[in-house]
Amino acid sequence: MTDAVDDKIRCDACPVMCYIRPGLTGACDRYANEDGKLVRVDPHVLLDRTISQGGPISAFAKDSELWSGELVKQPFVTAIGAGTTYPDYKPAPFIVSSQVDGVDMVTVVTEGIYSYCGVKLKIDTDRHLGPECATVRADGEPVGHITTGEYGSQMLSLGGVNHLTHGGKKEGRVTCETLLNLSNGKPVELTVDGGASVVVEAGKAPIINGGLEQRMRVGCGSATIGMFARQWFGKVDEVVVVDDHITGVLSEHQAGKLIGARDTGIKMKGRRSTPGRYFHVAEPGTGWGGTNVRDPLDIVAGFNPKVAWPGMTLLMVSTTGEQHAFYRLDEALRPIEAELPDNLKESVERITENCEPALCTVLFMAGAGGSLRAGVTENPVRLTRSVRESLTTVTAGGAPVYVWPGGGITFMVDVSLLPRNAFGYVPTPAIVAPIEFTLRLEDYAALGGHVEEARPLEEVVRRHAERTTNVFVNGAIPRAGRRAS
Ligand code: SF4
Repeated sequence: MTDAVDDKIRCDACPVMCYIRPGLTGACDRYANEDGKLVRVDPHVLLDRTISQGGPISAFAKDSELWSGELVKQPFVTAIGAGTTYPDYKPAPFIVSSQVDGVDMVTVVTEGIYSYCGVKLKIDTDRHLGPECATVRADGEPVGHITTGEYGSQMLSLGGVNHLTHGGKKEGRVTCETLLNLSNGKPVELTVDGGASVVVEAGKAPIINGGLEQRMRVGCGSATIGMFARQWFGKVDEVVVVDDHITGVLSEHQAGKLIGARDTGIKMKGRRSTPGRYFHVAEPGTGWGGTNVRDPLDIVAGFNPKVAWPGMTLLMVSTTGEQHAFYRLDEALRPIEAELPDNLKESVERITENCEPALCTVLFMAGAGGSLRAGVTENPVRLTRSVRESLTTVTAGGAPVYVWPGGGITFMVDVSLLPRNAFGYVPTPAIVAPIEFTLRLEDYAALGGHVEEARPLEEVVRRHAERTTNVFVNGAIPRAGRRAS
């Protein structure tokens, strides 16, 4: 708190600098005026990693009547609910010293305010969500774009400083809200310009154009041919695995050659890449194998009469096995659909069986800026170097992060590893996310850390216990009672 005006107090935890009346919260709902004191509304989270990760735990003095039920463990002080210092030349809210295996350690925690942040979404589906670079919208506002697809997944990049700061006020607000909801494990509906609508929720199956996506494909069309060639051999003359990227044709494919599959004279549309592997057999879409095809014969250009023969059999199947069709060539070498023989049913079912459940994965990505680092040390570049040299471990709400090589401390974290509601926001707009730096005390001193601000872990835990706000969580963080605002 910096100022008091009448009975209002001024919050200085972010650039908004709210004046807050008694009993009310500031604009972000994170800070409140409680009897003239500025308090962080949400409980500060001390995490027991063993419990949170589902690891084995042993009761101390098991079966002893003296055992109170408390587990002997050293909690990890996360930044969730720790609060923010602004501007960040001030020391971080919690600098906690402890001993681990006889080594003096320090954990510096703060809730970072990130204007440079976003989420990377991996949506397990072959269905075409939209062209690369197409704008992705939430509530009609542009919040990101489709980026390059990955194996069995469509990728979206949302947020980033441009959507947060360069667009209109509503664009920034909706972008912030979208990032916040996705990071806190809530569902968000997105629409793609010229593409699909998709409901995305971390750890859940995507809902595309109203339909629940059940399966992630077993592989590309070529890989599927390779995996199942032996199971088809002798039961069917030709197999085509329909895939928007690489459609596989058994008789031409290396796998078919190796097991002795006979040439069938099938002619495919699209561009032949290598034998039995065809690119661009149709346009992308939400039909068979991520193409726009509803009738799989649309991608077959015909049969060479010198090679094909009447009665020849053809199985066409998608990369998830959800769509399949069986044909027999008539006297004029026209494919006539027939019932799938029993001896092929198992192979089709096996494709489906080998598909993993389709999920949405949300990675939060942000850059720990110069000012945030100043809350850790008076010489911020040394913190960056320390992270680079693996002397400092970075976590987000206790979850491991991936720090990008190169300059700065740009990290990504799987939001499903954090307790729910670990993320917040401020209306600048920016996302508030926990970040912790853990290193040896001597290294912390060497990089110019605020050593004099360090408090022993026991003291932090005791003070939490006194205020009964500490929580050891495995799931969602309980929200403190909201004050009317
Ligand atoms: S938005 Fe929140 S953090 Fe920022 S000044 Fe207002 S109450 Fe404080």
